[in-house]
Amino acid sequence: MFSRILIANRGEIALRIIRAARELGIETVCVYSTADADGPWLKYADEAICIGPGPATESYLRIDRIISAAEVANVDAIHPGYGFLAENAHFAEICRDCHIEFIGPSPEAMAMLGDKIACKKMARDTKVPVFPGSESAIEEIEDAAKVAAEIGYPVIVKAAAGGGGRGMRIVHNEGALRSAISSAQQEAQAAFGNGAVYIEKFLENARHVEIQVLGDRHGNAIHLFERDCTTQRRHQKLIEESPAPGIDPKKRDVVAKSASDMIRKAKYSGAATVEFLLDGKGDFYMLEVNTRIQVEHPVTEMVTGIDIVKEMIRVSAGEPLRFKQRDIKLNGHAIECRINAEDTERGFMPQPGTLTTFVPPGGPGVRVDTHARAGYRIPPNYDSMIGKLIVHGADRTEAIRRMAGALDEFIIEPIKTTIPLQRKLMDNPNFIKADFDIHYLERLLKKE
Ligand code: ADP
Repeated sequence: MFSRILIANRGEIALRIIRAARELGIETVCVYSTADADGPWLKYADEAICIGPGPATESYLRIDRIISAAEVANVDAIHPGYGFLAENAHFAEICRDCHIEFIGPSPEAMAMLGDKIACKKMARDTKVPVFPGSESAIEEIEDAAKVAAEIGYPVIVKAAAGGGGRGMRIVHNEGALRSAISSAQQEAQAAFGNGAVYIEKFLENARHVEIQVLGDRHGNAIHLFERDCTTQRRHQKLIEESPAPGIDPKKRDVVAKSASDMIRKAKYSGAATVEFLLDGKGDFYMLEVNTRIQVEHPVTEMVTGIDIVKEMIRVSAGEPLRFKQRDIKLNGHAIECRINAEDTERGFMPQPGTLTTFVPPGGPGVRVDTHARAGYRIPPNYDSMIGKLIVHGADRTEAIRRMAGALDEFIIEPIKTTIPLQRKLMDNPNFIKADFDIHYLERLLKKE
């Protein structure tokens, strides 16, 4: 096992990794920017090293500075968390060149699954359901038009190297297809240095369901069932839960098994998430694979009892997974609310500033993953999530009531947060009946 790891991240996930490492008897080294100099999580690390000023491009994204810190601090491994460099195959490769273990997949597995065309091919080979569409990068517009005519409009043009929703175009007819493809190719080339694009069927009114998987370096892979992340605004998830309400468990089991088959075939080690859209009939279509720990991993931990961050560290140290698929059981229901420092009544405007009051909720089945506390100053440089409230109940009804109570107890002053909106959603008939799609929240906000 490692004796010392570096955490190339900040905020709640840095604290989450510190907690996991501590239980494994591993020392932690945090790197931080000057904007985070009084970050509360730094106090819990064994060592903290400043790597630059506030802008992430000058600190948390500086591979050279992070590697220097890792060498100075003499660590065995680096945990990238999520965001920043977590899905940067080049960073994983540099770690390997410097004989520092990257806590995540190999650069090869990351690059392959991160290329959406290669990933879709791997999915087809392992019977993971995908959207119908082109099977390779578009070379000739006529070929794309033929595929689009076969699958029927609307179609979506997507970049192989896409991320953050860039390089995507929804197209409703053949006339629009030509210009959409060339503009998406240009945008993808400029944004990702890879202009390859493809098309697939565009699904309206979908739900978002994703499968958590874990793999090791001994050829084992398992899944930890699914999460529903349908409550989103502009592709930003606000509420997640496990298991997904109202889905056919037989269909789910088949898809979850195929997802673990795919990561086994990709020789993937660590935690990954295979994301899907679900149509009105409850059929799954893969969107993409995220090759890192996800923000919403706690709901899976609550219903399976497995500490995903500790498992990631163990498999990176070369240990085999300690569970077989048959050991993984779903217990009860968990819901997570991402608590963002945002004013939901003013276009979700970020709310940096100092917290005077911070009183988190408690009681049975309530978990709060946060680095925030009274006196903490939220810097303006990073994303506005200041914590996550997770509840576990015997069933979904109990979990919703528990979440409503916990949101009522949660006091954060003086800044605005997403709590009042999430509290309202706990009484919303669409949320309660799980009668929703990824645009229901935006429709609801528009109505108000
Ligand atoms: P990115 O990596 O840029 O986030 P994704 O493939 O995850 O790209 O897609 C981002 C979002 O775009 C999805 O969450 C979904 O809302 C929408 N989307 C992508 N593909 C489709 C599709 N085939 N049909 C409907 N919506 C889609």
